[in-house]
Amino acid sequence: MSIRIAKRLDGVSESATLKLNAAAQAMRARGEDVVNLTAGEPDFNVPHASKVASIAAIEGNKSKYTPVPGIPELRERIAKKTNAQQPSLSKPWTAANVVVSNGGKQAIFNTLFALIDPGEEVLIPAPYWLSYPEMARLCGGVPVTVPSTFDGGYKITVESLKRVATPKSRILILNSPSNPTGATYSREEFAAIGKWLCEDPIGKNVLVISDEIYDRILFTEKPFASFLESTPALQERVITVNGMSKAAAMTGWRIGWTVADASVTGAIQTMQGQMTSGINAIAQYASCAALDLPEADFAHQVKSFRERRDLTLDILRKAEKLKVYRAMGAFYAFVDATGYLRAGEDSFSLAEAILSEVKVAIVPGTPFGAPSAFRMSFATDPESLKKGCERLVTFFKSRG
Ligand code: PLP
Repeated sequence: MSIRIAKRLDGVSESATLKLNAAAQAMRARGEDVVNLTAGEPDFNVPHASKVASIAAIEGNKSKYTPVPGIPELRERIAKKTNAQQPSLSKPWTAANVVVSNGGKQAIFNTLFALIDPGEEVLIPAPYWLSYPEMARLCGGVPVTVPSTFDGGYKITVESLKRVATPKSRILILNSPSNPTGATYSREEFAAIGKWLCEDPIGKNVLVISDEIYDRILFTEKPFASFLESTPALQERVITVNGMSKAAAMTGWRIGWTVADASVTGAIQTMQGQMTSGINAIAQYASCAALDLPEADFAHQVKSFRERRDLTLDILRKAEKLKVYRAMGAFYAFVDATGYLRAGEDSFSLAEAILSEVKVAIVPGTPFGAPSAFRMSFATDPESLKKGCERLVTFFKSRG
């Protein structure tokens, strides 16, 4: 007898990134020489200060339940960090505006779950992080894609928003720097979207989740642009999401957060209180230590990611029909492979062919909303990266 699974899971897919990653790891375990470029995590170690703080927390028996929204000292640091990125707010954030969650993933899920009623639309710029539409569906919402193009720098515009938004549109998810493309919005580009949200009859009903998880991994000359800083008048309608996974290489520690108006924070807190309670105490103390570190301590990581982006671009350019987007942040190369696709082939069959023929694991573009593209992570050691990129060039060139 097969157990009936709840209807709310109909049409919700498993994460393609995790699936491909697992397939590559299984091949490696069989002794095959696979270059795995799927992972969405930095290859650096957790800051030493965080390790020391976590050991001190264990030795100090900080092992009890924590408050549902997080320990006050962490929430204060998060408020301070966010205020530094949003200095124009008339009412600076305080610890009371912060809920700490199990990663940015839970922070985004919490927000959608707290704010979406059945049938309401979630506007998602494509290519998108593959979890956004699935989370919207799980919360009863309807994901609506806002298209962008390679030539348009993979950024949406007010015109593209106007084309798809309806009176049912409730939330717009922005993500800069972006996973999967690395597209990074300037303050001016964000301000144009902010104006639409303030003035347009449809835009006025839309809230924003600004996923800023890659804020530190930036290759632009200009400083990071936090969405709310572009349009501070939207303070009550913008939920800023961030976390320690990418900024401090703490993916496994599962620390993320929302910073939002008190009403939204209260709703998120209520739901998280019933679902997971306050999150891992030790990881919260470790995060306090990471947030106390000066920005300069992370400069070498950003430099290294930038060098690896350049290495990737230099090699992949040799396959002339690939359109490789020049990421301005995060650690992914997003590649349009239309020029090499065979009749009837999509990004899934392409990924399978690449894995079996040249033993490189990449993530197909379809779950990111780009069926002719693929995503590869350059957060891996330069030697493996070079080997992986050269194999990809060999693969594509063999197709003519
Ligand atoms: N948002 C984006 C765009 C991501 O790429 C990720 C992780 O891959 C997350 C959020 C969630 O990260 P975490 O749950 O590890 O904080």
